[in-house]
Amino acid sequence: MDVYSGILVSHEGIVHGDLVVEEMVFEESRIEKDDYVITRTFFNAHTHLGDAALRDAPRIELEKLVGPEGYKHRMLEATDLTVLREHAIAEVRRCRNEGTSHFLDFREGGKAGLEVVRDVDGVLALARPKNVEEAEEINSFGFAYSSVRDHDLKLIEEVREIARKRKKFFGIHAGERDCGDVDATLSLQPDFVVHMNMCPEMIGEFTEEEIPIVSCFRSNAFFGLLNKKSYELLCEYDLWMLGTDNAMISTASMLDEMHFASYIVGSERALLRAATAGYEIFNVEHGYIIFNRKHSFRKTSDPLLTLVRRAGVKDIEVILFDTHLK
Ligand SMILES: [Zn+2]
Repeated sequence: MDVYSGILVSHEGIVHGDLVVEEMVFEESRIEKDDYVITRTFFNAHTHLGDAALRDAPRIELEKLVGPEGYKHRMLEATDLTVLREHAIAEVRRCRNEGTSHFLDFREGGKAGLEVVRDVDGVLALARPKNVEEAEEINSFGFAYSSVRDHDLKLIEEVREIARKRKKFFGIHAGERDCGDVDATLSLQPDFVVHMNMCPEMIGEFTEEEIPIVSCFRSNAFFGLLNKKSYELLCEYDLWMLGTDNAMISTASMLDEMHFASYIVGSERALLRAATAGYEIFNVEHGYIIFNRKHSFRKTSDPLLTLVRRAGVKDIEVILFDTHLK
């Protein structure tokens, strides 16, 4: 029976024990063990994998790059779906090898756009229906729109209702550049919201309703929209998650996102929680990452800080995905 003995690191602290591979169970022990450093895999709560083919994006302002008439959408229209799919798959494979098991993906392009990630292990696709008929027939993990500003609000409201009826998740961006789209977003009562970096004054309205919030630090930084005030509030929120946003700007690896975020906020514990909270929120199974102690974790005095700030591919001994993992 394969067993990895060592410490399991999570936001709740450190416990010693054995990870039994066959059963995917970590058994706590009273004896100190430290051969390996073990963590849950990571859940990336926000990607746009379809634009992995478009890297590297020019450094232009938010609206011009990702707005409805912007660079990204012009380029997506002009690129063959099979090319988009090839790049999305390569990005997912690479990031799964870095311990990110799931990618909650905003899938542009209506029903046809789902082809980009169809049956790719670990990708949970949130489709963007072009009309009510598509929303009724699309078979996806859920639905998502970019912002109430960018689409017909009536369509968004109807799709939100359909998501409820069909028991699918509904997500949307809000508060990325200001509070202008936040009221209308709140009234949709989404299952989760992405960003809120530039609207800290309304974060409390989401936390009171227990609506999860996703932050994307590198994306915010790229657009000059980092806002410590928001992240500090979110560090206190159990339903906070991390995502990596556009694949044309950032890798979809949560190790990369955590490393960067740890320079912006002071709570590595909260960042680690946010990198794994999606498993409970979206009810999917996590795997385990087994880190060796040859490099970053050799002689570390605080494995949690090492993990969040600097652990890399060279530290990974093996990754175990749940056998039922989709
Ligand atoms: Zn996004």
